[in-house]
Amino acid sequence: MEKPEKLIIDGKRLDGRAPEEMRPLKIEAGVLKRADGSAYVELGENKVLAAVYGPREMHPRHLQRPDTAVLRCRYNMAPFSVEERKRPGPDRRSVEISKVTRQALEPVLFLELYPRSVIDIFIEVLQADAGTRTAGITAAAVALADAGIPMRDLVSSVAVGKIDDMIVLDLTKEEDQWGTTDMPVAIVPRKKLVSLLQMDGNLTEEEFKRALDLAFRGCEQIYQAQRQALKEKYAIKPEGE
Ligand code: ADP
Repeated sequence: MEKPEKLIIDGKRLDGRAPEEMRPLKIEAGVLKRADGSAYVELGENKVLAAVYGPREMHPRHLQRPDTAVLRCRYNMAPFSVEERKRPGPDRRSVEISKVTRQALEPVLFLELYPRSVIDIFIEVLQADAGTRTAGITAAAVALADAGIPMRDLVSSVAVGKIDDMIVLDLTKEEDQWGTTDMPVAIVPRKKLVSLLQMDGNLTEEEFKRALDLAFRGCEQIYQAQRQALKEKYAIKPEGE
């Protein structure tokens, strides 16, 4: 796609959304039979799966830590997830995203409960349209809960940014590409703790405050959808249903 002259026309974005509106969000918990916990997230055109294994004994043993579990995280994009086929396997971007995802999730886990163990999180991006790291974190938090791993809270994540001098919620690929600023954020909602904050581009202090406030509001919507997905999976259904 060519760079459009404007990304916001008459207060509407290219996909018809208002500046503070999120793309349609769908979350499903427990979608994979062989994982201990799993979740599927669609956010607009993004499709992301998360699978959790563990806590289980860490092998090889020299990687064990006597006082705590180790959290491992692998973010991976399928070759068919983007327009031009992506070369399979890890690259600098996926290594970085795996690390920040782990750091975004660690604050809600009680890793000290499981010495010598490992918890593995696999995030597979099936279709990408900007915001995959945040959708991955949102999915992983639900998958951890689905695995029955004790947690202080969920982690909810969404990107905010600036396009055509406006602060907007949840950028698409075009908005990320042609806009001024992309700022992915993850939040531990109950404590109002920020566990991921990255920024491509720049914002004034005042714009940053507005963007962060919008991220908090976006994450609140995501949090409700995450809880709803877990409730749907674990609701006690009446006999015969
Ligand atoms: P995020 O997906 O978290 O927004 P980036 O800002 O790095 O991460 O990427 C924005 C979007 O750019 C991705 O969601 C994807 O649509 C696209 N993209 C990222 N890496 C590649 C790649 N190697 N090839 C093609 N498109 C890519």
